[in-house]
Amino acid sequence: MPEKNQVCTAEITGLTSEGSGVCRVDGMAVFVPGTAVGDVAEIKIVKVLKSYAFGIAQRILTPSPDRITDSCPVYNKCGGCLLRHITYEAECRTKEGIVRDAFERIGGLTPEYDAFMGAESTERYRNKAQYPLAVQNGKAVCGFYAPRSHRVIPVADCALQPGIFSDIISSILEYINDKKLTVYDETSNTGIIRHIYLRRGAHSGEIMVCLVVRKDISRQLSALCRSLTEKYTDIKSIVMNINPSKTNVILGDNCVTLWGSDTISDTMCGNTVEISPLSFYQVNTVQAERLYAKALEYAAPKGSETIADLYCGAGTIGLSMAARAAKIVGVEVIPQAVENAKENALRNGITNAEFHCGDAGEVFGRLRRQGCKPDIIVIDPPRKGCSQETVEVIADAAPEKIVMISCNPSTAARDAKLLSERGYSVDKVCGVDLFPRTGHVECVVLMTKKE
Ligand code: SAH
Repeated sequence: MPEKNQVCTAEITGLTSEGSGVCRVDGMAVFVPGTAVGDVAEIKIVKVLKSYAFGIAQRILTPSPDRITDSCPVYNKCGGCLLRHITYEAECRTKEGIVRDAFERIGGLTPEYDAFMGAESTERYRNKAQYPLAVQNGKAVCGFYAPRSHRVIPVADCALQPGIFSDIISSILEYINDKKLTVYDETSNTGIIRHIYLRRGAHSGEIMVCLVVRKDISRQLSALCRSLTEKYTDIKSIVMNINPSKTNVILGDNCVTLWGSDTISDTMCGNTVEISPLSFYQVNTVQAERLYAKALEYAAPKGSETIADLYCGAGTIGLSMAARAAKIVGVEVIPQAVENAKENALRNGITNAEFHCGDAGEVFGRLRRQGCKPDIIVIDPPRKGCSQETVEVIADAAPEKIVMISCNPSTAARDAKLLSERGYSVDKVCGVDLFPRTGHVECVVLMTKKE
């Protein structure tokens, strides 16, 4: 077993989903952040646990062929990106491996894998940013948290965000500092401004500015609204979100529109969509469209089917399938997202879609008892996956096909395994990179009812 403070030479042979390199020292797995597969490094062991250890690379003796030098000035401090030190090709290889590994090890499954879908743009691909604020050297700053902490690393221009976001945040910070508006402090639950939250429609260019505050300060923000909208004509909506709670959940329930419209619009898979501050909307529009196209390919409806879209958000997936189905039934827990979904159907002249608000399993269970019998069920749960009850309700509904979309391969594999034990064969899996340079990876899964 390795010992604390021991220094050894080892070759990095794997990369975890947290972006950490892995090597073996005396038979034990040692996680070494900031390394790449193929690096031979001098490693100092810093922590030894029961079945694994942590090390730091003191020197890279032979660099991996995957290594590149990165230009982001805060890469080693900010918790956002994890894979900027390797080529994008190596990143895709790693992410494909993470997806396969989850289905094999957690799921015990042997599906067919479609070619991993890497992204064409690995920079400026996001349509949403939430910047926490802090006071540093007597001034309000904003940026992103350092890994596993709530320490704000100021970021002037994040390479993943649209360039205009950097200009907007600097204008807002200038205003906050000028007017001496206070910055929220988590430990004492004092101060006002918690986050700057920006969204931009990738196709429309429309921008929403949302200020997350501890209490209503609308009067103090009217001059800001004027100057922002004069300077940035793509801003279509300025919203104040009030979050009075001592919590690390970013958004509160209460949104007040300070200027312009309550939502911004964009197009997704050819449909116009309205997006509220509280609604989920995929952050990488170009890759999301490819992801949804893959989901449609897997669902392969012929036109006569009823499709249930569980965890539907603003309805984007179901609506992208509506022209190829008899009926779409969406379920989503956030009321504003359900409202968006209904309006999105109307706006696009889609008359065969209905949307219901509530827990996916509960509401879908009730709809089933009322006679809803989908031929295809699409599920797109959050990172924690489906609840056991929801898996049961889906299996009981016995659709011909289940298409699962997931941003967490581990819970996707767990839920696919449960469904495989309830009459489904897990046929195909496709990894899709929606989050280049970060540790996250999305996947789509096709399951069909066994004879
Ligand atoms: N399919 C949508 C949203 C996917 S994200 C899209 O592609 O845009 C997951 C969604 O599940 C979020 O909108 C979230 O609000 C919703 N959600 C989370 N828990 C839920 C639950 N228990 N029941 C129904 N929806 C839930």
